[in-house]
Amino acid sequence: MRLLIMGPPGAGKGTQAVSLAERIGGAHISTGDIFRANVQQQSDLGREAQRFMDAGEYVPDEITNAMVRDRLGQDDAREAFILDGYPRTLDQVATLDGILNDLGSGLDGVVELVVDPEELIQRLLKRAETSGRADDTEDVIRHRQQVYTAETAPLVDVYGQRGLLMQIDGVGDVAEVATRIDDALPA
Ligand code: ADP
Repeated sequence: MRLLIMGPPGAGKGTQAVSLAERIGGAHISTGDIFRANVQQQSDLGREAQRFMDAGEYVPDEITNAMVRDRLGQDDAREAFILDGYPRTLDQVATLDGILNDLGSGLDGVVELVVDPEELIQRLLKRAETSGRADDTEDVIRHRQQVYTAETAPLVDVYGQRGLLMQIDGVGDVAEVATRIDDALPA
């Protein structure tokens, strides 16, 4: 099973993606996690990505696309994966189509977690108290929501037109949301 999980910052993508990866027996590929690990290691990639992330901007597509191509080519992603935080732009959608085509595979479904915008801001402000993430301040949080609405929300329609979209209510406890996702997955 090859899946994407989408949703605005704070929707709970990361939490759901980790357990979903286990249930489908596939790799959990979070572009945000990979960037943060690179920032911590002060790698070249990390140094390039950091200033965009700290400002709540997207890292440029050419950097992100190359990283994902490399990651999807690894063995543990061959049969099953869940991509978390990618694609986020229409250009990334086109690149992902090309990568999967080159690998001779394709997507089985796209999970969209749907959560009301004010609830999202409240969740992220709460997370900010403990996350230590430089992009978890109120101004940057609000900016990330705007970037999501402008750049990433349109992707939902693209996957809807392809008949891949599963829209899941993301409000409720973690186990409840997980059950909703499982019930919606293709057999
Ligand atoms: P959130 O979903 O809370 O915004 P993520 O952990 O998914 O957080 O991503 C954190 C940051 O990493 C983003 O704000 C962005 O700067 C960068 N990033 C992650 N994925 C992508 C992507 N697909 N394209 C561009 N930038 C990305």
